[in-house]
Amino acid sequence: MPELPEVETVKRALEARLPGHEFVRIETFVPALRYRLEPLHDAALLHDTIISVRRRARYLIIELAGCRALVLHLGMTGTVRIVPAETPRLKHEHVVFYLENGDTFRFDDPRRFGFIQPCRLEAPGAEPALLAGLGPEPLSTAFTPEYLAKAFAGRRTRVKTALMDNAIVVGIGNIYANESLFLSGINPLTPAGRITLEQCRLLVDNVRDTLQRAITAGGTTISDFKGVDGSEGKFVQQLHIYGKDGEPCPHCGTPIRRVVIGGRGSFYCSKCQKADRE
Ligand SMILES: [Zn+2]
Repeated sequence: MPELPEVETVKRALEARLPGHEFVRIETFVPALRYRLEPLHDAALLHDTIISVRRRARYLIIELAGCRALVLHLGMTGTVRIVPAETPRLKHEHVVFYLENGDTFRFDDPRRFGFIQPCRLEAPGAEPALLAGLGPEPLSTAFTPEYLAKAFAGRRTRVKTALMDNAIVVGIGNIYANESLFLSGINPLTPAGRITLEQCRLLVDNVRDTLQRAITAGGTTISDFKGVDGSEGKFVQQLHIYGKDGEPCPHCGTPIRRVVIGGRGSFYCSKCQKADRE
């Protein structure tokens, strides 16, 4: 599943290619992905300059000059590419946007959990209403230790589940939550309300560092932007604990344990990430 670093990588690639251009035709080849595609046949989306490509959580926002935007989500298997119009369409390229310069922007999604929703914006640069209620971006200045401590206060939810809650902070998927908690020496089973401000400092630093490293690694896998396959890219080689059930902890050698928290596989070292005994 494409996580924040992969989506950020896609955003950077699209940002270099789409702004300044316009859609002249939009073709859909299936009735629906996660949602119906019929709204894409709105003529108001055509002949309007693309002014920006942004990312919010795991959503991509392609904004047009007339306060309209397309909100994209890659779902489980979504990928995009920009290729000349004459390039043969792949089997799962369900939506093709034709640009005035002869290129096409294509959305490929075998499992069809992704979506593309046109929407109106209240003002240029405004957040689409569809994305209301999301917490701050983990790489923004709003994600501070003080903010996190306040968001965790009084919560009995496991800290790992709280860290993956989009209302608290967006875009921290399972892999990044596991890695950040390990690097912070925090047991993933600890109730969020017991996490101290000092621990929040470590967590904020390690979340940012882990995501930044993943973005850097993701960038190297698609430098030519032929496509994005949604895998962990080269970052998988940098994982400390995720998916390493029974292997020695890279810090102390204790076998790594796996537990299920909130339905997700969770990995930790019982020595480096001591459980809360209170
Ligand atoms: Zn250890």
